[in-house]
Amino acid sequence: MTDKVLFNKIAVIGLGLIGSSLCWCVKRDRLARHIAGYARTKKTRDTAMELGFIDSAHGTAAEAVQDADLIVLCAPIGANAALAEEIGPHLKPGAIVTDVGSVKVCVIRDVGPFLPDGVHLVPGHPVAGTEHSGPESGFPELFDGRYCILTPPPGADSDAVEKVAALWRKAGSNVELMDPHHHDRVLAITSHLPHLISFTIVGTAADLEDQLRREKQDVSDVIETREVIKFSAGGFRDFTRIAASDPVMWRDIFLNNKEAVLELLGRFSEDITALQRAIRWGEGDTLEKFFTRTRAIRRGVIEARQAGSFNPGEPEKE
Ligand code: NAP
Repeated sequence: MTDKVLFNKIAVIGLGLIGSSLCWCVKRDRLARHIAGYARTKKTRDTAMELGFIDSAHGTAAEAVQDADLIVLCAPIGANAALAEEIGPHLKPGAIVTDVGSVKVCVIRDVGPFLPDGVHLVPGHPVAGTEHSGPESGFPELFDGRYCILTPPPGADSDAVEKVAALWRKAGSNVELMDPHHHDRVLAITSHLPHLISFTIVGTAADLEDQLRREKQDVSDVIETREVIKFSAGGFRDFTRIAASDPVMWRDIFLNNKEAVLELLGRFSEDITALQRAIRWGEGDTLEKFFTRTRAIRRGVIEARQAGSFNPGEPEKE
């Protein structure tokens, strides 16, 4: 083992897309001497051992965290309070607890109270992902060139923050520190609202066929599901990819970032009503001006190297 080792033992609690991808990074770069994994189901634990991204599998989180220097919570955020309550009494002094949840204020609220004195909390959020879930979906390049936002509470131990930052840098990420409230507002507009819109638009398309079939006699008015799928390259395709994301994870995100999402949803509704009015009144200039501004934002995303790929010929990762 080389001097690259950052932690003697890491415990990863939750072995899905994010947990397994992080384990793969730790294995690839030998960042820990031992990775202990916890998952609820035996199937996930067995898969993780067979794939080889953990060194030991545990049926309780309390067992997995014994003697761990770093504990990474990688279950849906709604599970954090119960997990923290379970592991709290089993954490060794000086241990660092971090997480990967998509909302940050709630992690400090739910996990903080269960950590004993001398244990450091450094919440984190790798802004990277796919629509796939489970232990088979992880891969070590997931975090390459992406941002990882750390939201340490006031007074957090600076060595602990630096150790978690070092882990994410080794995983290929650009690390930024942010206030947790600010994180939740930024992510509400960049991630949570786009997902909500995707879930809605895909649901609306699915409802169209059912409802029109029931109400209309004229079959030419009925939009069939097969047409939605066949012509989905016209913009709908990317919405369906986003709307395929894990339902439990997204339920927890909306329940835990309620205020920011509702505030931004209000602004979004105003803007879409303004566009609706421009379309109704034939105000082409208004529409063109709006779309010109949004096109410039897309260019900014590309320049920041956060664009990803929209190549329709690209094979989907399974
Ligand atoms: P995932 O692939 O669905 O995996 C979730 C893991 O958590 C599984 O091992 C599952 O165990 C376990 N789990 C689920 N419910 C649990 C509960 N109530 N108690 C204990 N363990 C539970 O999820 P993921 O995509 O890796 O997401 C995990 C976390 O990463 C979430 O907090 C999410 O906000 C955050 N995140 C996700 C993305 C993304 O794009 N997916 C991006 C950034 C951050 P079993 O397999 O045994 O059921």
